[in-house]
Amino acid sequence: MPLHCHLWGDRNLKMQMLNNSLIMLKVFEDSPHLTRKLMQCNECRQLYLYEFCEIVDRIDGNDSTYYKWIPVESIGEAEQLCKSEFPDLLHCPSIRIDFPTESEKSEGPYFISF
Ligand SMILES: [Zn+2]
Repeated sequence: MPLHCHLWGDRNLKMQMLNNSLIMLKVFEDSPHLTRKLMQCNECRQLYLYEFCEIVDRIDGNDSTYYKWIPVESIGEAEQLCKSEFPDLLHCPSIRIDFPTESEKSEGPYFISF
């Protein structure tokens, strides 16, 4: 999948850059522990499915949070992905930030491509 977005592959990418570059087009899901939105790069118009997922840790109350930005070709593709459960989206090429319960600080943004 050729991707020309300046965000993709930028080793110095920061979450703030993602927030500054992406415009929200549509909300697919917005619940306390799962958010999915269609985002668009304000420079190249690349679409991304953004997902925020929080996994509640009932033992010590320290939740794990995961952020993903999955490049998509169309709104239809994003909608299709939204029919998947959280683990299925782990198989998608994406920009990710992970903040697991056991970690002191977050990991990423980093890139997964297949
Ligand atoms: Zn872009």
